[in-house]
Amino acid sequence: FISVIVDRSAMAKIFQMADASNLVTELRRNFDAGVTRGYEWRVTQLKKLLVICDKHEPEIVSALHDDLGKPELESSVYEVALLRNSIKLALKQLKDWMAPHKAKTSLTTFPASAKIVSEPLGVVLVISAWNFPFMLSIDPVIGAISAGNVVVLKPSELAPASSSLLAKLLKQYLDPSAVRVVEGAVTETTLLLEQKWDKIFYTGNSRIGRIIMTAAAKHLTPVSLELGGKSPVVIDSDTNLKITVRRIISGKWGCNNGQACISPDYILTTKEYAPKVIDALKKELEAFYGNNPMGSKDTSRIVNLNHFDRLSKMLEEKEVSNKIVYGGQKNRENLKISPTVLLDVPLDSLIMSEEIFGPLLPIVTLNNLEECFGVINSRPKPLAAYLFTKNHKLKKKFTKTVSAGGIVVNDTAVHFTLPTLPFGGVGESGIGSYHGKFSFDAFSHKKSVLFKSFLGDSAIRYPPYSRRKLGL
Ligand code: NAD
Repeated sequence: FISVIVDRSAMAKIFQMADASNLVTELRRNFDAGVTRGYEWRVTQLKKLLVICDKHEPEIVSALHDDLGKPELESSVYEVALLRNSIKLALKQLKDWMAPHKAKTSLTTFPASAKIVSEPLGVVLVISAWNFPFMLSIDPVIGAISAGNVVVLKPSELAPASSSLLAKLLKQYLDPSAVRVVEGAVTETTLLLEQKWDKIFYTGNSRIGRIIMTAAAKHLTPVSLELGGKSPVVIDSDTNLKITVRRIISGKWGCNNGQACISPDYILTTKEYAPKVIDALKKELEAFYGNNPMGSKDTSRIVNLNHFDRLSKMLEEKEVSNKIVYGGQKNRENLKISPTVLLDVPLDSLIMSEEIFGPLLPIVTLNNLEECFGVINSRPKPLAAYLFTKNHKLKKKFTKTVSAGGIVVNDTAVHFTLPTLPFGGVGESGIGSYHGKFSFDAFSHKKSVLFKSFLGDSAIRYPPYSRRKLGL
């Protein structure tokens, strides 16, 4: 249980079980002392997070470029600007979120008043993923702070420049008695998971999600698991095809080159309509990334060799490699894979069995669009499901019949940006949700409080019980 490097801002030191346990003990003491409970403390920390976004955007963009080759504008919009919105919303609405809510009472409790009080859970752990390392780290931290918790953030080791910048900035700006960053990989996370937390908020793949939930079960710790899955896109022939494919490209290759949890994973359309979809995709992809997409600066690279090889394996599988209808170029040296479209790969191939999480997009054709419901509903519930159509009946049936973390009709991925919608999965794609007020709720306990008066102390409820007392 010994590993190296936890706090890179100080000298490299060894993180051991005792460090993890001391960290939680110290933070619990601070939580119990009430450090984080007041409105003012929460607001001060949120404002500091805003300063980080405002003052350090160039460093953040540069770290994201180091880790993922992320285009500057993509980083500014999807990581910094969205975080800024999230913080501003929390600052604006925090008083309302914190306020107790009146609850109705009934004849059985009369006379009484009741309210629901949001209280912080305590000492919480946020474990985040590499693909949007700032957004996925700080957004849950906003929720944890807004709700009045002390929090430990464990960023992903697969985005080391972002992880180390997060550790530096949070240490520099936030209250160290209540907000800490522990950098590290499996060993450090395992040591942290041994501790008793009041909530674990995890973003990542479902295999590790199971490890998190098992560790949490030992202490009966509640979890939010923000996982992934294969998010389908259904394209009806009654659509605006140009806008359809542009929005698919934006949600797929324009979001970290397909390395996003709500990235369109595969397309479902009819055999008849598929050629038109392919032509439109080719045309728009070429308009966006030119005829040498490998040289385009507008797509991220693959995060590391492991993921590059994983994607290559999907692409090189028998009966898959011959199904490429666009793209297919890759370079292991610079970890680039070009936008790639495939047609009618076998349904039991790797690319159709596992979450792709990269720039490959298979199209599965159907005899009629109705078959899409069977294909989607026979698979694990996805994090997102998308439909492009002008047909109202189809929209209605899709939103009613398809179970997914979220559904978007006539666009992809944009629901992530709407804080009025809860963001989270269902079934295999996750447990719990966050964003906006839902983040506050994810880190709060809703405490029921009932105030009774001494009036109206009816004899009916006390022994000796008798039907006569009830007037029966
Ligand atoms: P990752 O490799 O960064 O892992 C996530 C976290 O788990 C990291 O902090 C890592 O240190 C930790 N971890 C890894 N192995 C561990 C172990 N054995 N024990 C304890 N902790 C461990 O990220 P990833 O899993 O490759 O992320 C991609 C997956 O995450 C995809 O499935 C994607 O869909 C999903 N995802 C979901 C969301 C969402 O909001 N729902 C967002 C991003 C990614």
